Amino acid sequence: MSTTSPSFSDVFDTEVVGRWAAPGRVNLIGEHTDYNDGFVLPLAIDRSTTITVGRRDDRLLRVASTFESGVHEASLDALDPASMDGWSAYVFGIAWALREKLPEVAGDAGTAADLSAAFGLDILVESDVPVGAGLSSSAAIECAVAVALADLWSLEVTRPFLASVGQYSENHAVGAPTGIMDQSASLLGRADSAVFLDCRSLDAEVIDLGFEKAGLELLVVDTRVEHAHATGGYVDRRASCERGAAALGVSSLRDLDVDDLPRAQEVLDDETFRRVRHVITENQRVLDTVRTLRLEGPGAIGALLDASHVSMRDDFEISVPELDLAVSTAQANGAVGARMTGGGFGGAAIALVPTAARDGIASAVLAAFAAAGYTEPTIFVVHAADGAHRL
Ligand code: ADP
Ligand code: MG
Repeated sequence: MSTTSPSFSDVFDTEVVGRWAAPGRVNLIGEHTDYNDGFVLPLAIDRSTTITVGRRDDRLLRVASTFESGVHEASLDALDPASMDGWSAYVFGIAWALREKLPEVAGDAGTAADLSAAFGLDILVESDVPVGAGLSSSAAIECAVAVALADLWSLEVTRPFLASVGQYSENHAVGAPTGIMDQSASLLGRADSAVFLDCRSLDAEVIDLGFEKAGLELLVVDTRVEHAHATGGYVDRRASCERGAAALGVSSLRDLDVDDLPRAQEVLDDETFRRVRHVITENQRVLDTVRTLRLEGPGAIGALLDASHVSMRDDFEISVPELDLAVSTAQANGAVGARMTGGGFGGAAIALVPTAARDGIASAVLAAFAAAGYTEPTIFVVHAADGAHRL
């Protein structure tokens, strides 16, 4: 990452018309359930991507990021995923995906069916969401751009629609086969709350976390082990889930629950069975977490977080030794619960910790990593924050 941090006027000569911000997210629980039509419980965090936007009088989109030098350019009349590469695809892809998907909602609340009335923009991207740490810097940039384009181009569209635009862009313009969780969290999140999302119906409900009242905080341990969605095991895990669902005669693993596990074990090979068992039990843990938060409060969800980690480590096999060490050290030093979060193969772990134990847990994790000879992790607290908004 470069150290240059240009301001808008260093890069562009148009006048600023507004700034928008969208947060990254952590997933409290519900991992690899989204593309199985299941349940997830992410929260938007107080780390976000901010875009500063100037209006152009042509139909060009020009984008720059404090992340690296250089300006990328695309015409609104020639948006084509094939010609988008590098990080700018996360911005241009949103405009392209809007163009592709607007016809689905055309006419609702007077929404236009195309981008013929849209105008060009200069966009400077800044972010304090760490990249590749499992906190979805990708959704943060996508959602900041999506809300800005919708506002500026006067598109009367809903936030769930913008989430689907973000996912469509990430799948087809960026080329990462991700679900809709990240964009939903970034767009629908609320302070001290999580977003309970049914990835089949796309019904979303804001759930009070009550961390603050309970004296709890969410600690993130970024292992700095790099994950790679597209080239890592993600594609392979998706394929296992599809294979399992097909062998069990359902359209997705969402159609199964824990009562189906004995049959699944009979029908499937051992590895596919364990992949399927993770998804089925993880869906149940999300439902149990929501119920427990409502009935007993956040101090009672620790065992569910811990069980989720074990399932990802042993059944889904997406953890790495650094994540396991972060989790076990947090647990041994007073965390309510801990688990790896995000797609796996690196990235971050989360620990729900009493504020009084926070610093001790962070020190213990640092010491454990040093003793193991691992790269020093980055450890920080996140608070559940509001979703994307104009500043
Ligand atoms: P994450 O887990 O952080 O979402 P991804 O690989 O999905 O990791 O997305 C990270 C990519 O998103 C970066 O490699 C880059 O292409 C793009 N990105 C994220 N934040 C920025 C930014 N501030 N400026 C430019 N590109 C960004
Ligand atoms: Mg991402």
